[in-house]
Amino acid sequence: MGKSISCRDAGKTCNWSATAKSEQDLLKITLEHVREHHKELVINSELEKNIKSIMKETN
Ligand SMILES: [Zn+2]
Repeated sequence: MGKSISCRDAGKTCNWSATAKSEQDLLKITLEHVREHHKELVINSELEKNIKSIMKETN
C-alpha cells in the first residue's frame, strides 16, 4: 500500500503525478514539485492539508 497524487486532481493543468510509500514521503515529493512548477502557490500548513486531502491510496 502507498499513496499517489496528481496535479490534475488539484485542478491544475499539469500532467505531473507521483506515488510514494507513505503520506509523509509523498508530501515531500509534492512540495518539491510545487516549488519548481507552481510558484504561485504559497507553501504553508493549509496547502499541506489540501495536498494530503487529494492523496489516494494505491495497491
Ligand atoms: Zn504540477
